[in-house]
Amino acid sequence: MKKLIIGNFKMNQTPEESKAYFTKFVAGFNGNRADVVLCPSYLSLPVATFLAKGSPVKLGAQNVSDEEEGSFTGEVSAQMLKNLGVEYVIVGHSDRRNKFKESDRLVNKKIKTALKNGLKCVLCVGESLADRNTGKTFDVIRHQIEEGVRGLYENELESVIIAYEPIWAIGTGQNASVKDVENAAKVIRKVIFESYSEKASRDIQVIYGGSLNEKNVGALLNCAGIDGGLFGRISLNVNLFLDIANNLK
Ligand code: PEP
Repeated sequence: MKKLIIGNFKMNQTPEESKAYFTKFVAGFNGNRADVVLCPSYLSLPVATFLAKGSPVKLGAQNVSDEEEGSFTGEVSAQMLKNLGVEYVIVGHSDRRNKFKESDRLVNKKIKTALKNGLKCVLCVGESLADRNTGKTFDVIRHQIEEGVRGLYENELESVIIAYEPIWAIGTGQNASVKDVENAAKVIRKVIFESYSEKASRDIQVIYGGSLNEKNVGALLNCAGIDGGLFGRISLNVNLFLDIANNLK
């Protein structure tokens, strides 16, 4: 099975810069080794969906409202994203949990609204350095998953990807080790097994994110139980990211 490669551009790139990026990426991506989902800002999504149409490059949003529609100034709905041709949405990223104080309850509501509107959700989970240093890693992951998928039917998990993103590894240049990632993948699948079934725990896509780069990607994406990667900083470098996506071993 091909690996899933997701690029989270965060609050970077103007729509004009995205136009140049997507023109190059779409022309250069071969789709042989990986499925790719690129997540530029909301404002870049129209030009990105236009340029990626008919190509294997898929689009994701970095956020979505938990509400369907109405008086929610500044929000963007799942239906709007779907209508534009967006297929994925990142939910529960540590930026949003920590800087925007998003709770597990809100994350769960966003997932339900996104799924209802036909979007796939990338649910980010992961511990802080303090959690890790006090031996709470697996409890934190367990709690975030249980709360994140609360109330979902087993068949809905087909549209949920769980991204293990230890906070201490995001944007720090300090990636988790193969052992850390394999242990986290085991715990994630165990939680799904206990809440759903053996089949669900086997089938759910689990990916890793946190300071992935061209040097560590081979080892970290080939860890047992890992189906792909979530890239931040590196995904902004179109040549490097194309090279990773085209030549993944
Ligand atoms: C992220 O923000 O999800 C991320 C993985 O960032 P980076 O690759 O820069 O650590």
